[in-house]
Amino acid sequence: TVRVRIAPSPTGNLHIGTARTAVFNWLFARHHGGQFILRVEDTDTERSRPEFTQNITAGLQWLGLNWDEGPFFQSERLDLYRQAIQTLLDKGLAYRAYDTPEELDAMRTAQKAKNQAPRYDNRHRDLTEAQQRAFEAEGRQAVIRFKIDDDRTIQWQDLVRGTMTWQGSDLGGDMVIARASSVDSIGQPLYNLAVVVDDMDMQITHVIRGEDHIANTAKQILLYEALGGQVPEFAHTPLILNEKGAKLSKRDGVTSISDFQKLGFTAEALANYMTLLGWSAPDGEEVFTLPVAAEKFSFDRVNKAGAKFDWDKLDWLNSQYLHQIPAAELVDKLIPYWQAAGYPIEPTTDKDWLTTLAGLLGPGLTRLPEAVDQGRFFFSELMDYSEAAIKQLHQDGVAALLAATVDQLQSGAALDSLDSGKALVNDIVKAQGIKKGLMMKSLRAALMGDMQGPDLMESWLILHQRGFDLPRLKAALE
Ligand code: GLU
Repeated sequence: TVRVRIAPSPTGNLHIGTARTAVFNWLFARHHGGQFILRVEDTDTERSRPEFTQNITAGLQWLGLNWDEGPFFQSERLDLYRQAIQTLLDKGLAYRAYDTPEELDAMRTAQKAKNQAPRYDNRHRDLTEAQQRAFEAEGRQAVIRFKIDDDRTIQWQDLVRGTMTWQGSDLGGDMVIARASSVDSIGQPLYNLAVVVDDMDMQITHVIRGEDHIANTAKQILLYEALGGQVPEFAHTPLILNEKGAKLSKRDGVTSISDFQKLGFTAEALANYMTLLGWSAPDGEEVFTLPVAAEKFSFDRVNKAGAKFDWDKLDWLNSQYLHQIPAAELVDKLIPYWQAAGYPIEPTTDKDWLTTLAGLLGPGLTRLPEAVDQGRFFFSELMDYSEAAIKQLHQDGVAALLAATVDQLQSGAALDSLDSGKALVNDIVKAQGIKKGLMMKSLRAALMGDMQGPDLMESWLILHQRGFDLPRLKAALE
């Protein structure tokens, strides 16, 4: 059975690239009825923070990327990694190296002078224990290096990129798998080693991750072999590019899932959009939920080329969702924005009319925060008037029709549906002998204080429900 994982490092908020990788893992797992595992790679103790872990798990949950096992934390599994390192040492496949940073720098400078690629020259491969202890007596610490043979060829069939071939000599020399060690101790295990031990232990069948990990994959395959593990399948997903075609980075501003959330994208639209970053459905559909995308998902349709981030498309998808979501659900997404804008709201007692309002505004929204401005007419009894509204209110016959409307309302005319609203308007138009256009424009000016805004009759129903229409009509008459 398929077992995949997402393995974020909690050194920052959930990044769109990590989230997209999580989406592809999730789609693949769900397509095959497999397991999706969450593993937090927090071995970098200096840069890892609990608040980032919190942001990452909350972001995955918000997007609907539920995991079947975990979260596992690498920081709680150090013994397992040390055992594996000990095995490699015992087999003679790894060794302690004592080079100082200065010596490594000098090595690189010399290589640069000869136009050679920087690499460790494996100079401490065959130190005796006496030599190692002598270095320690000088106060040096060891790293543990895993031997990489220059003439090894490493090959795998990447599910996205096809046949991948690497030469051992291109991997930078023997690789560091632990730091801060000595003859008698194994210090801090590093990324490539920990990943392989975990992927073996968690019986991961498919490693799906960003293409920036391709060189790591070559190294990790050597570690699988050395540790006697079965090499999983690999799928390297394309990078996400900014509008200029460069790799999306922190400098592009909005890169974390919580940033997108704050901008007012719905989880559904953002998750939907991420499926399209490097993948397309065979039937050409573009709007779907994650479970529907999972049915259609395969790596055959994942591109090798980078995926350009397209804000217009994300906005379009978001509006698709906002236009079709039931008002009863939309209202819960909007209430936090209205509250943050300082509108007085009692979420329980106001729920009825807020839901009506959400239904009224939904079809016009692209991003959730727009509901703050578009909803501004409904949260206080009286409004300011725009210049255009004031002009409208000063037209001939307007005072009379507003006064007639006030009369009708005060004598208890029904206003509880679009039909009763229309009947009321028609009655007044007839009795006053005016054009309907004048009536509607004047009502808009009086009730909303502006000549632009949401549908007038629906707005009036909400204002009436709130008891705001009568005071506003009276105020407009003053
Ligand atoms: N911690 C790594 C990252 O965040 C995970 C890479 C992997 O999936 O192996 O990039």
